Amino acid sequence: TIFLGIESSCDDTAAAIVTGDRRILSNVVSSQTDLHADFGGVVPEIAARAHAERLDLAVEQALEEAGLSLRALSGIAVTAGPGLIGGVLSGVMCAKGIAAGTGLPLVGVNHLAGHALTPRLTDGIEFPYVMLLVSGGHCQFLRVDGPDDFTRLGGTIDDAPGEAFDKIAKLLALPQPGGPSVEAEAQAGDPDRLPLPRPLLDRPGCDMSFSGLKTAALRQRDQLIAAQGGLRTQDRRDLCAAFQTAVAEVLAEKARRALAASPAPILAVAGGVAANRQIRTELEAVATAAGARFLAPPLRLCTDNGAMIAWAGIERFRMGHRDGLDLAARPRWPLDRRAAPMLGSGK
Ligand code: ATP
Ligand code: FE
Repeated sequence: TIFLGIESSCDDTAAAIVTGDRRILSNVVSSQTDLHADFGGVVPEIAARAHAERLDLAVEQALEEAGLSLRALSGIAVTAGPGLIGGVLSGVMCAKGIAAGTGLPLVGVNHLAGHALTPRLTDGIEFPYVMLLVSGGHCQFLRVDGPDDFTRLGGTIDDAPGEAFDKIAKLLALPQPGGPSVEAEAQAGDPDRLPLPRPLLDRPGCDMSFSGLKTAALRQRDQLIAAQGGLRTQDRRDLCAAFQTAVAEVLAEKARRALAASPAPILAVAGGVAANRQIRTELEAVATAAGARFLAPPLRLCTDNGAMIAWAGIERFRMGHRDGLDLAARPRWPLDRRAAPMLGSGK
């Protein structure tokens, strides 16, 4: 089995070729960060147009790097949601075009399933496992029992942590994306000097909230500015350390509860925020204490990419799933079919 995977649900245009025996033959990611830099966020119209312009090239490049022609493929997988609808539509149309032209099977993939199945691609793990998806737009705990069997154990009721990292960076005039710059500042910071709350820790379950943290950080910053007339380097470092520690502690405690409520031999994590070393270390400690293995795929497979979509497509294909040329793009698409659409379940 060899699949082409196409991903265009946010601000990365991606295409990859992956085999059924877990080999990634190519993994092309064309980032739009530069296009949106001046706007302080992803502009949907700009993203959709850029995807439409770049998709063909990304697919061509993925095939070329894999040294394959379209004829060698067994199928085409494409992100059919959730995400920015213009981008998802561009990808779905590109995939349909190739499927119509070649007669290859088409498989629509849920973007979040792509993230959630990545540990099976990278490490070949078996079901079940517990997964923390933590990125710029998402934050949820999932129990994964099969390629199409996800149970949502809890998630953020407002912002995702990556978004909060980005806003904190903006507040402190640090470069975007905020995660890496906040992490770098936090390294030399004292997490206890400017304390921040631990939202929802007092409430049972695995739901989380991060927007209050951001407001609390803003208040600390403004108090410092009022008292001193500005921010010192050390203030920035301490605030970053306090913020990162608060996020890490909340994620760790909720992960502990997720594993307690739904014991599994593995705790896996994916999403850009999983790059954070303090967060990784604390999650790993929680997994170890629960007798579980901790697994974090390499960063380029943790953030948006086409390989995870190709792999999720292969998993669905093996289950007998095929989509027609009427495959629809879905802005919302909860992974957990049992759960009613929930506030903060993601885009
Ligand atoms: P989606 O949520 O749709 O999957 P995204 O592009 O928002 O996509 P990712 O690409 O997975 O998400 O991750 C980007 C986010 O990860 C950004 O918000 C960024 O600040 C955050 N991030 C990256 N590195 C770190 C880090 N070292 N520490 C904390 N956060 C980080
Ligand atoms: Fe993503």
